[in-house]
Amino acid sequence: MTQTPPKHILDADHADPLAHFRSEFRLPEGIIYLDGNSLGALPAATPDRMKQAIEIEWGRDLIGSWNSHDWIGAPRRVGAKIARIVGAGENDVVVADSTSVNLFKLLVAALKHQDDRSKILSEPGNFPTDLYIAQGVTNVLEGRQLVTLPADDIIDAIDEDTAVVLLTHVHYKTGRKFDMAKVTAAAHDKGALVIWDLSHSAGAVPLDLAGSGADLAIGCGYKYLNGGPGAPAFLYVAPALQGRLETPLSGWMGHASPFAFNDQYEAGAGIDRFQCGTASILALISLEVGVDLHLRTDMAALQRKSEALSSLFIALVTPLCEQFALSLVSPADPAERGSHVSLAHDHAFEICQALIARGVVGDFRAPEVLRFGFTPLYTRFSDVWSAVCILQDILSTRAWDAEQFRARSRVT
Ligand SMILES: *Cc1c(COP(=O)(O)O)cnc(C)c1O
Repeated sequence: MTQTPPKHILDADHADPLAHFRSEFRLPEGIIYLDGNSLGALPAATPDRMKQAIEIEWGRDLIGSWNSHDWIGAPRRVGAKIARIVGAGENDVVVADSTSVNLFKLLVAALKHQDDRSKILSEPGNFPTDLYIAQGVTNVLEGRQLVTLPADDIIDAIDEDTAVVLLTHVHYKTGRKFDMAKVTAAAHDKGALVIWDLSHSAGAVPLDLAGSGADLAIGCGYKYLNGGPGAPAFLYVAPALQGRLETPLSGWMGHASPFAFNDQYEAGAGIDRFQCGTASILALISLEVGVDLHLRTDMAALQRKSEALSSLFIALVTPLCEQFALSLVSPADPAERGSHVSLAHDHAFEICQALIARGVVGDFRAPEVLRFGFTPLYTRFSDVWSAVCILQDILSTRAWDAEQFRARSRVT
């Protein structure tokens, strides 16, 4: 069943000012990839850049590359580029570690800074690693507790005992987006700090960390930023806090002078202190290719296309909802959501597997969510249209109701 999309869909692709970016990615034939929010696609320039990094920088130039190819400057150099994507000053973002580890560093640092307050406030159903790291932190720092409340109750619950509000800016499951400036202002009103997890925001929605008064943020390199599986993450610390926070992972790469080889730890200046050990340079170089691609467009253009794609998807699936017991999990108002849309169904897992078998790659989030990411750099309007046609076919024929779609792998 390969139908030609109607004229207005083809026209939308034709008029898309970002259409040329699709050829900047390697996308397999016959696949509609709607999972760039989980693992971004491979930029076409990455393999050659990696080959050069491996064969020339590592293979030929060996250890001299720390200086000659500026490996040592890579965490800050790529951080400064990501800063432009997230609306931060160039000296306020550094690439380091994983999102989970960066959260640990910033959460402990923030709690120590807010020594007279006990509460970390978050929402139930936040991304698992955020809640797990917060739980781990309360085990290490005595007298601190994690309190979770529904998103709509968070602002009212911030009080004088709240040390840190920890939220994922665009929710990984529902796609719901918090108003960063509003939550931050409410927290500051009560003297609390906010840590924003930008994993589903960076490269997907316009961000203005500086303008929103944000304190601290972390985010992922392998989703919308196309850095590759397990790409290094980034962290942001507002300039006013950089000198006042101390990372609990006081590794040598965050030292004021790592190559003085002193016994005594002395925190580096500014954002540098939030690095820990030696960066994964090959992974960082791969991330830089993805980040560079984003810098060739502007976030407002990305936002417009992301909104148009996700709104088209919602418009096309809405008629299927009642008939097939599907429901829209994401906010209907594009201003309230990020760049992915989720649907709930009792058989979401099997439907997801059946879609993948037909070349439509979205993902499943337990227990009942089907998630579709609309990465504006490489998704076409005709992809959205075709994906919904295939979904409709799978639902109306109950093709999902087959033994082969019930088996679960380790990664779902
Ligand atoms: C993907 C994601 C992470 C990833 O954390 P890792 O440490 O890279 O495994 C963290 N938080 C959110 C909200 C995410 O979506």
